[in-house]
Amino acid sequence: MDEFDLIRRFLAPLGVAGGDLLLGIGDDCALVQPPPGDVLAISTDSLIEGRHFPVGTDPAAVGWKALAVNLSDLAAMGATPRWFTLALTLERADADWLAAFAHGLGTLARAHGIRLIGGDTTRGPLQLTLTVIGSLPAEGALRRSGAQLGDAVCVSGTLGDAAHALNCLQAGQHPDPFLRERLDRPQPRVALGLALRGRAHAAIDLSDGLVGDLQHVLDASGVGAMIELERLPVSPALARARPPGEGRWACQVAGGDDYELCFCLPEDELAVLAEQVQVPLTRIGTVVAGPGLRCVDASGATIEVPHHGYRHFE
Ligand code: ADP
Ligand code: MG
Repeated sequence: MDEFDLIRRFLAPLGVAGGDLLLGIGDDCALVQPPPGDVLAISTDSLIEGRHFPVGTDPAAVGWKALAVNLSDLAAMGATPRWFTLALTLERADADWLAAFAHGLGTLARAHGIRLIGGDTTRGPLQLTLTVIGSLPAEGALRRSGAQLGDAVCVSGTLGDAAHALNCLQAGQHPDPFLRERLDRPQPRVALGLALRGRAHAAIDLSDGLVGDLQHVLDASGVGAMIELERLPVSPALARARPPGEGRWACQVAGGDDYELCFCLPEDELAVLAEQVQVPLTRIGTVVAGPGLRCVDASGATIEVPHHGYRHFE
């Protein structure tokens, strides 16, 4: 199987042309047609084996996660997913691996109506770089810079599940299956992102840990925030695995790979929103005069938490 067989067999089915995709995989460029009046939202994320996912991860989960982390960025901007490209580096063209990979990738792509429009295929250590393209009305974009004093700071879903699963794997233990699934197959909050348009003042997706990611919003907005640690939403599985307190909080505030949305909006918008999207939403704190982020426990005492999330080149 050469490069072109591989593309034809496993990847081209994820990008059948039609509608807003005028010309898909197979020419020098793809041709796409954005909705009239919309702007494009474009983002790239790479995944490297051994760094972003454990060596030997189920290929279907690799395909899923590579797209999920990119869709999460579109969600955080409030964009509708439309097209993506895939730069794929592989040690060898293994048909079983590729079939499973394409299945995981394709399942999530179809669920969000996003089509593969091109890419590049090379030989080397396993690595994937996806560029996703979405569209939205320019004034609808959810930036990091609009948080206002008094806004409720909110998150979707639960926090810390993936970080705990990763800790277990790194310690040579088997994580709870639910937590492993949260690490391998994050659910990008695309519908929530769309619903936040015109409601949230600022938003970000949580990839590197709450404290570090929220700090980006605070910096961009020129404000501070107070986070109440007891309010952080915890899954039943994480609650069983980690008692309340510092160990759990470390996963929840500094652990990465949540791929939930964190957003700032007037408190009274939250109930309407939660009704509209079928995702649990939790208020975890308040935007206050800056700078910086303060974490408090139930008694209001300041708790020192790890300063920031994962950083390359540190
Ligand atoms: P070129 O040599 O013109 O850059 P390539 O031979 O690299 O084109 O690729 C041929 C076609 O296959 C192009 O349309 C390209 O976008 C597509 N393609 C290559 N690799 C991938 C991939 N990993 N995923 C999706 N499409 C791909
Ligand atoms: Mg090329």
